[in-house]
Amino acid sequence: MSYERDNIRQMTGYTSGEQPVDASTLKLNTNENPYPPSPQVQVRLNDLRIESLRTYPHPTADPLRDLLAVTHAVHRENIVVTHGGDEALRLAVTTYVEPGAAFGMTDPSYSLYPVLAQIHGARVVKIALDDNWHLPRNFADELNEAGANLACIVNPHAPSGTLTDIDRISQLAESLNGVLLVDEAYVDFVDPALRYDAVRLVNAFDNLLILRTFSKGYSLAGLRLGYLIGAAPLIEPLVQKTRDSFNIDYISQQLGEAAITDRAYAEQTWANVRAARRLLRDDLVRLGFAVNPSQSNFLLVEVPLALPMTAEQIYLALKDAGILVRYFDTPLLDDKLRITVGTEGQNRQLINVLQTALNSCS
Ligand SMILES: *Cc1c(COP(=O)(O)O)cnc(C)c1O
Repeated sequence: MSYERDNIRQMTGYTSGEQPVDASTLKLNTNENPYPPSPQVQVRLNDLRIESLRTYPHPTADPLRDLLAVTHAVHRENIVVTHGGDEALRLAVTTYVEPGAAFGMTDPSYSLYPVLAQIHGARVVKIALDDNWHLPRNFADELNEAGANLACIVNPHAPSGTLTDIDRISQLAESLNGVLLVDEAYVDFVDPALRYDAVRLVNAFDNLLILRTFSKGYSLAGLRLGYLIGAAPLIEPLVQKTRDSFNIDYISQQLGEAAITDRAYAEQTWANVRAARRLLRDDLVRLGFAVNPSQSNFLLVEVPLALPMTAEQIYLALKDAGILVRYFDTPLLDDKLRITVGTEGQNRQLINVLQTALNSCS
């Protein structure tokens, strides 16, 4: 006898990337920032006093919301702080999607989306990307036709790294009948010369939510801190109704404040990652791989038939050598690897192992 609801029994859960126990493993599989968090975060951690944990934290993390509001030139009412970006996604699904109604996403995309939609009893509508990983022209029309209450797109896209430009985002927000959530988990790594900035659109559209996280850009994946930016009426029910009470613990609020206050440090890591991304891409192309242009901290690397190994064989060879990358065993991606950009030294280590593996097979 199973007591699970039907939809829970029928679904499979989210599978996260491997987290090795061996500290010597080079982790290039879950898109973490290769640099440590700001030293100011360590200072704040050292200053924490255990007595502070006796009382409940600020229920809506307003001091952190205010710092974020200043950072993004919006108001406190435009921001809800969440337990990782993942809680933000869950809140968006539970707040905006009628159970049974459609939830829209691209294929491929972040594999947590359909899991959250299925838990909620929503109908998942996946729209295929075009050959260059761009949104198809009919994206909004198809979702409107399906009656989607919410659509999530990742920008820059995961796992391709492709950036959708701001005009297209604005056009989508305009034409979708439901809420458009732009998941900007990787936006910190976008080349500033492109002048991509979707936050300035939030007060122009009453249906646009921007997701941000401290996990990638601020090297704080272990902390579980994210937030949404949107027009005040869109944010209000998340803050006042659907969020867990005290969803952000005191320690996370403190460390998040320290991280955002020392944003200059994080910005330097983003610049380093961009520089390393260029070099890594050049090196991979030199080895014979096809690499999609990426505005993220990872590269989607295609293994052409001309190379003596398949993507899966390379994934396994790297794993044997203590380097983890992501291999997706799905029809669209099974000839590709998603490789997180590491430090220049880590990337050189990867290239050396790849070179040796390929040479030994040819
Ligand atoms: C990492 C990531 C998130 C958010 O992750 P959290 O660690 O929960 O903040 C959201 N969307 C995508 C596509 C991601 O890669």
